[in-house]
Amino acid sequence: MSYDLQPPASHFIDGQYVEDTEGQPLPVIHPATGATIATLHEATPAIINRALNAARRAQAEWAAMTGAERGRVLRRAADIIRDRNHALSVLETWDTGKPLQETLVADAASAADALEYFGGLAGTLTGEHVQLGENWGYTIREPLGVCVGIGAWNYPSQIIAWKSAPALACGNAMVFKPSETTPLSSLRIAEVLTEAGAPAGLINVVQGAGAVGHALVTDPRVDKVSLTGSVATGRKVYAAAAEGIRNVTMELGGKSPLIVFDDADLDNAVGGAIMGNFYSTGQVCSNGTRVFVHRSIREEFLSRLSERLKGVVMGDPLDEATNFGPMVSERQREIVLGYIEKGKAEGARLVAGGKAVDGPGFFIEPTVFADVTDDMTIAREEIFGPVLSVLDFEDEDEVIARANDTEMGLSAGVFTRDLARAHRVIGRVKAGTCYVNSYNDAPVELPFGGSKLSGVGRENAKAAIEHYSQLKSVFVRMGDVEAPF
Ligand code: NDP
Repeated sequence: MSYDLQPPASHFIDGQYVEDTEGQPLPVIHPATGATIATLHEATPAIINRALNAARRAQAEWAAMTGAERGRVLRRAADIIRDRNHALSVLETWDTGKPLQETLVADAASAADALEYFGGLAGTLTGEHVQLGENWGYTIREPLGVCVGIGAWNYPSQIIAWKSAPALACGNAMVFKPSETTPLSSLRIAEVLTEAGAPAGLINVVQGAGAVGHALVTDPRVDKVSLTGSVATGRKVYAAAAEGIRNVTMELGGKSPLIVFDDADLDNAVGGAIMGNFYSTGQVCSNGTRVFVHRSIREEFLSRLSERLKGVVMGDPLDEATNFGPMVSERQREIVLGYIEKGKAEGARLVAGGKAVDGPGFFIEPTVFADVTDDMTIAREEIFGPVLSVLDFEDEDEVIARANDTEMGLSAGVFTRDLARAHRVIGRVKAGTCYVNSYNDAPVELPFGGSKLSGVGRENAKAAIEHYSQLKSVFVRMGDVEAPF
């Protein structure tokens, strides 16, 4: 099978595709050519209203089902997604420009993993019994109600699934707004969930930019907001959600350190730096963009990295041989090129890349800077593109202090053969998602999320259940009530 690039309609509400051409047109651009491949319409207030009403209604029906019944629907959806992995991956590649080589293993596949995992957990969710002498208490784990998910453009299928799978497992409904840049695949994931047996209205997708997101976040029918996006947007969404004291999950940006000690397996460290800077053309929030390399191995590290960069195959992302795609948009390419110019102007040594690629599409060369210092803009701000900065260090205490000298705290990685040092360093870095002798793995079984400005809450793993459910406590007295009068 394959999906038409133009979906049946812009939104998916109450179990069906819905259009409202009153909404602003949203062209969908293929990043490898700049061609418009579909045109959708932004959600109008009527569309938003319809989605939220459908979600409220469906949530009551869904919460009345047993966890095992809910889990069965999620696991069936995981199976359908795996069956359609190729078609979903091709669609994701058209939409995001990420190489098919990647989308085949990292996008729909990761969505299926999340639905399968939380489908398995759904029947196990319980409260607890607490004995209090002859009296006792118990807790009931209840859903929050209607959840709003708002996604970034880098992993659209994964983001809708990482938010919807735990939300639905806990008995909530979801209204999801993908990034306006990549609106296509989340429609198909919602369609699959409905086909798998989710009641109409349980999962809805509405399109639009920030204003649609804001309307959702501030609506009194909404109980929870989960955002994947930049710190700047996170601040706005968190503040808006706070008006209604809504529960939030914030998965925001990072400027994460990857520390390579002099005893590291150098080829693995170079591989980790590639995975942490150039996968998805560097458009990954957890990227280890500040690569601290021990001074004694710096030149060897750079030379092996340059050698490996010869393996970059840039081109048509739909060709499975391609391993490096374009940036998602012209705007994003301009932002990244601006950072590269700042890197040069502030005195960093350009070792590789540094330019846009002539021709159609939003391609940019994989770029490596050495001699980067902590105060340079490229070492302080999230670039969200294929720009790797190498910084030198001498000793452990120094590198930990420098690694932590950022307002963000999403991820951190360490490469060393010294086990004690690996765990000591990880114990001291201020980051939510860490790696030892690896980088950027995100299995659904491990919590994912950030500290400091990088976020609030955790996605994935059992930890996510805490963020999509609440406990009701019940005290039960077995004897008479003793009152003062
Ligand atoms: P943005 O912050 O620009 O947008 C994120 C989403 O929020 C989009 O859907 C956007 O809509 C929407 N939005 C924007 N303004 C508002 C608002 N006022 N109210 C409600 N919604 C709003 O991020 P990008 O899409 O550019 O994604 C890149 C960022 O995401 C990077 O900082 C990256 O680090 C972060 N990210 C974090 C991840 C994590 O798990 N920690 C994973 C992936 C990315 P629209 O864009 O359509 O206008």
